[in-house]
Amino acid sequence: MAAEVLVVEDEPDIRNLIVHHLTRDGFRCDTAGNGTEALTRLRKGLPDLVVLDLMLPGIDGLEVCRRVRADPTTAALPIIMLTAKADEVDRVVGLELGADDYLAKPFSPKELVARVRAVLRRARPTETARPLAVGPVSLDPARHAVSVSGRAVELTPKEFDLLHALLAAAGRVLTREHLLNRVWGYAHADMIESRTVDVHIRRLRSKLGDAERRIATIKGVGYRFEKE
Ligand code: CA
Repeated sequence: MAAEVLVVEDEPDIRNLIVHHLTRDGFRCDTAGNGTEALTRLRKGLPDLVVLDLMLPGIDGLEVCRRVRADPTTAALPIIMLTAKADEVDRVVGLELGADDYLAKPFSPKELVARVRAVLRRARPTETARPLAVGPVSLDPARHAVSVSGRAVELTPKEFDLLHALLAAAGRVLTREHLLNRVWGYAHADMIESRTVDVHIRRLRSKLGDAERRIATIKGVGYRFEKE
């Protein structure tokens, strides 16, 4: 059955554009024009994913996201946040509201469709990847668990995916473009998106304690997880 996407956007033109492209790509769509409507809609049944505009009249996108994550019945719902300005990206990331992805306006509808597919693919893994361990860092995809020297570490879904990619390629340099594609599903990378990787790497390092030095920055290229 086609995946269902709830599109929450108050501007009719943008809402219609998103629905048009998603529908054309085989998704079923439902819409809400504001945060209250979105929350009411979610109480009636869950879509597979929500595309959520940050700037909404009344209850804004951040608050909708917060409430969705706080409610156990909707906590795992994949959310892609739409932000109006590039500098809001840091705010959204910094607040760690748990949006699975975000896209700055103006965005290409093709890019949005690609992101929707990438987030859904991650939300419904087709295979269970094997556990990985490099030095003191262990990651078990099946349990979504990470530990450093036996101590459990809490990571956001993006930080987890990022560490997963780095560990799986331990000893090799991964470019920002590769990480953006692998972890975020981006088809291409611009300045803002590259910064997204850096922001997440910084947060990931800060959670790894002594093992943070294992993530080496390869200037102008990307990152490498050191085996030694
Ligand atoms: Ca808006």
